[in-house]
Amino acid sequence: MSGSIVLLPDELIGKIAAGEVIERPASIVKELIENALDAGATDITVEMEKGGCEALRVTDNGSGIDPADAALAFERYATSKIYHFDDIYRVTSFGFRGEALPSIAAVTHTTLTTRKVENLSGVTIAVEAGVVTESREVGCPVGTSVSVSHIFANVPVRRKFLKSEKVEQGHCLDVITRIALAHPAVRLRVLTGGREILNLPAVSDSRQRIGLLLGGDFSDRMVLLQGNRGEMRIGGYCSQPELTRSGARQLFFYVNRRYIRDALLSHAVMTAYRQLIPARRFPAAALFLDMPSGDVDVNVHPAKMEVRFRHPREVYELVAGSLGRALSGLSPVSGLPEPDVFRGMSKTHAVRMEEALKRYTLQSESGKLSFDREKTEGGKDRFGKVDYADGVSPPVFSEKIETVDFADLDYLGQVDHTYLVFSSPKGLMMMDQHAAHERILFEKLRAASEAPSGRVACQSLLIPEVVSLTPREMALFEEFVDLFKDAGLEVEPFGGDTVVVKAVPAILDRTEPAILLSDLISDLSEAGRPASLSERRDRLFTFLACRGAVKAGHSLSAMEVKRLCQDLAGTPHPQSCPHGRPVWITLGLPELEKMFGRR
Ligand code: ADP
Ligand code: MG
Repeated sequence: MSGSIVLLPDELIGKIAAGEVIERPASIVKELIENALDAGATDITVEMEKGGCEALRVTDNGSGIDPADAALAFERYATSKIYHFDDIYRVTSFGFRGEALPSIAAVTHTTLTTRKVENLSGVTIAVEAGVVTESREVGCPVGTSVSVSHIFANVPVRRKFLKSEKVEQGHCLDVITRIALAHPAVRLRVLTGGREILNLPAVSDSRQRIGLLLGGDFSDRMVLLQGNRGEMRIGGYCSQPELTRSGARQLFFYVNRRYIRDALLSHAVMTAYRQLIPARRFPAAALFLDMPSGDVDVNVHPAKMEVRFRHPREVYELVAGSLGRALSGLSPVSGLPEPDVFRGMSKTHAVRMEEALKRYTLQSESGKLSFDREKTEGGKDRFGKVDYADGVSPPVFSEKIETVDFADLDYLGQVDHTYLVFSSPKGLMMMDQHAAHERILFEKLRAASEAPSGRVACQSLLIPEVVSLTPREMALFEEFVDLFKDAGLEVEPFGGDTVVVKAVPAILDRTEPAILLSDLISDLSEAGRPASLSERRDRLFTFLACRGAVKAGHSLSAMEVKRLCQDLAGTPHPQSCPHGRPVWITLGLPELEKMFGRR
């Protein structure tokens, strides 16, 4: 093949560029709603067919576009929002690159219908895969409506990468939720397949909207927070410490009303909650930071979800300080925040904060804020224990999988109420009590579900408990409800955004059903969508086993330890827990000898 250089045809350039911005239906929803907001709309309706994979429409009552300009809106780099290069650094509107409409139109069939209030008629323009196919005058309401169909029809690869309709719809709802939280004064309606699934009235106080979107239990238990430092301001709501979640999914951050993801802000929030909530639990919060646009660069990431702060330390201290005060019930003071959360901060935590700031600065300087998304979202260990991913390798004493004859073990005692220590003919053996119990429960659940009756034993609740879910949680719930039943968790729709829990798996009879359900759903939603039914069932059983298992930090009697060992001996795959962590490790006699210098 000759390697001659050719210019790419425009159409191809368009497709490539579109791929960067338009990843999935949710990206289209986001761009269209933001355009509506930029146009001053106070009423926005989003319609989706098949989770947004088939068709999408966003209709607004904003300013509309003049017929003379409408075709221009589909030209690349055509924008009404900046005129000079320097303006890029002073952006206050959402769009500013003039890329969204052309990018959407390059990979779909798009029809834009629009009218300005001063015009008697409007215009409709149809574009198919980047080519204008129709443009004519029409009668239509004031505002703009953009309909999109044949999504990615001309980009089969991207089409193939789409997940199920439910998952794509979930992403769309995530985008809508993020925007809705920041714009309480805008009425927002969402319809799927013609059915209204969300109707948020315009309200003056964001409290009402946050309560609606984050679920009923949150609205009763949220704390107002406010603070400022220099020209920076923060406001928002956070959850009371009793109300925790298993993941960081309910943490929403905004900078100048723009939703962002930021590891540093998450870190600051966890600092404030550090002593108030258990390890690996997360609060819910919607936090709005406002600062002069020169103090934040929103131009770092193509999807504009990451920003760069000019003064990260001040931001960190403002967030952690204001949250800390709000949580301790102190009234917000202006000026420098009282350093309550920093006072009495343990040395390790202070070090961790410094590391987070250093990491942030380094990454900002290298121009890419590549925070480990998986970790931040799943919230696993980012703020806890040693982060092995950071180059430290976990201590492994014995690599090969060994079999243990549990009858040969002498129980010596418990370390840190977590590890059971045994002497065995091969050396010293240490077992993680939680991991061991998890594996036992997991295999029990699996065996019960595979038995002819096919049902896991459950415990009916004396008083069924009503739980309210967010729109996204509701969609997931519908997807998993049958599996829940097989696992002994009986939950039924209860009208609107609520479900009722009637029974829980017998191994979990001591857990609070509402918390169990909301954690379960957030766990399932973070996992993405496992392919097969059995994978999904395993995921569900893993969660339940983890919940039912004896915790680390729990003291066990010798009798209980014995029982645990007996159960483990009769369990398949005893060497690891369902998450894949080891159940025991052995420090063999040869290793002991080496460590003591005998060899
Ligand atoms: P950007 O938002 O970055 O300017 P877009 O491609 O999203 O670029 O939109 C191009 C232009 O089309 C906008 O600058 C705006 O003038 C116009 N426009 C797009 N959507 C709307 C809308 N819903 N209402 C009014 N004008 C719109
Ligand atoms: Mg735009």
